[in-house]
Amino acid sequence: MYSSYINGEWKTTGKTFEDFSPVTLSNFADVIDADAADAKAAVEAAHQAFPTWSGLSADERSAYLIKVAEALEEMATEVEEILINEVGSWIGKAKFESTTAPKMWRTAATLAAQVKGYELVSPTGKKSMVVREPLGVVSVITPWNVPLNLSSRTTSGILAVGNTVVLKPSELSPISGGWVLAKAFEKAGVPKGVFNVLTCSKQQVAEVGEVITTHPKVKAISFTGSTKIGKHIAGKAGALLKKVSMELGGKDAMIIMEDADLSTAVNAAVFSSFNHSGQVCMGTKRIYVAEKIADEFIQRFTTKTKTLQYGDVRDFAKPIAPLINETQAQKVEAQVEDAISKGATVLAGGERDGLYFQPTILKDVTPEMTTYAAETFGPVVSVYVYKDIDEAIRAVNASEFGLSGAVITNNTEKGYEVAQQMESGMCHVNDGTVYNEILAPFGGVKNSGIGRYGGQASVENFTTTRWITVAEKGKQFPPVFMESN
Ligand code: NAD
Repeated sequence: MYSSYINGEWKTTGKTFEDFSPVTLSNFADVIDADAADAKAAVEAAHQAFPTWSGLSADERSAYLIKVAEALEEMATEVEEILINEVGSWIGKAKFESTTAPKMWRTAATLAAQVKGYELVSPTGKKSMVVREPLGVVSVITPWNVPLNLSSRTTSGILAVGNTVVLKPSELSPISGGWVLAKAFEKAGVPKGVFNVLTCSKQQVAEVGEVITTHPKVKAISFTGSTKIGKHIAGKAGALLKKVSMELGGKDAMIIMEDADLSTAVNAAVFSSFNHSGQVCMGTKRIYVAEKIADEFIQRFTTKTKTLQYGDVRDFAKPIAPLINETQAQKVEAQVEDAISKGATVLAGGERDGLYFQPTILKDVTPEMTTYAAETFGPVVSVYVYKDIDEAIRAVNASEFGLSGAVITNNTEKGYEVAQQMESGMCHVNDGTVYNEILAPFGGVKNSGIGRYGGQASVENFTTTRWITVAEKGKQFPPVFMESN
């Protein structure tokens, strides 16, 4: 039985909910449903654990995080099976997560000793120090698409610098996004209450979410998910003056310049558009290609896309994954049907087969079509042909979103210039939009979010600045206030 992990204990009784598998189209596992009382208990446990955890030396915290990494490495095969069954990961993506997550924990172990302060020259001769300290209990809410990595990237840095955590994974990935990490923490022998996981159903999310985002003992909220829910949570947390980090939706764009190497362009476009069937926040959803090379790019991009197969997620040669559930499949289908009905041309795909949606390329997409501006979160990309680069940059920046971006060109200097003008938190020249490094600051602008994760960004995001002075030689006050007067 899978369940919540609170104060070092597994919840063993209570109602259960079904964890649907998009691969077998049946119930993958029963999971015990957390409620508001569990959420309060988790926050209390994290609060109680905070003084001890934050009081450990950096070396002691690092040692625990390395043990978590080792436990995850030992669980790799089991974890891959869970990732395949629970969220429909293709085997290549499941292996990517099972190997990247331990690296994230090992990297976080190095952050524990990288919390930096500095000394000021005090005008009054005091010792004057600026230090960074952990915040306290941090609530972490994560989505289902890359569940183990997204739960790891957030919580690892948060814990490394001395905070304690209450993690609520998605109701669609309670096991890969939560239970797996709790198991690793149990195996690693991390003190109870430092890391708590709440597994709950869709019906319970509002109740559990309310506790972990508004509880007075919660000092910060790290949310990864849709812009709609993120804004709802940020609104509540903001009113309570809690610190928030929001990693939200995207409609990422790639600009292919007229001097681009076409094979680089095609490879980057195919991978970034269709990896995990486009269910990636930084997936490429809009491609702007220079008129001069548009015909050849479109022909080659379409040809390669049509070779991508689906049907067996355990087959390395069939990388197209099922969509997570019927609701998401219907959303993608509705966007494509709406575009076709309003005049879009389908260059590849366009059809649905159960939860699988063919990798789809659309052309002649206009602002009247939903897919022009709305997030798709499926394997659908629109291609636009541009005459001059300024026009392409303007179109890219007209989006409400700004997570990642890409520029393909043989003139890397010009590519860097274009990247600078694109409104996105991240941008990559001669690569796709889907790219991350564990120590790099990951995050978006506009409706794609606020806050950054990775390396120093995590350290800064999840610590607070304090100013401490010491009057070593005594302190002079206005004479009238002094005893000696
Ligand atoms: P979602 O917003 O529906 O859910 C995200 C999380 O919020 C889940 O854990 C869900 O249970 C929780 N939640 C829902 N209502 C809540 C409430 N009232 N209180 C507290 N928690 C609540 O998103 P999703 O469908 O799970 O994931 C897809 C979305 O996530 C897409 O928009 C995608 O772009 C985005 N995403 C962003 C990033 C990033 O790093 N920017 C990464 C992955 C996914």
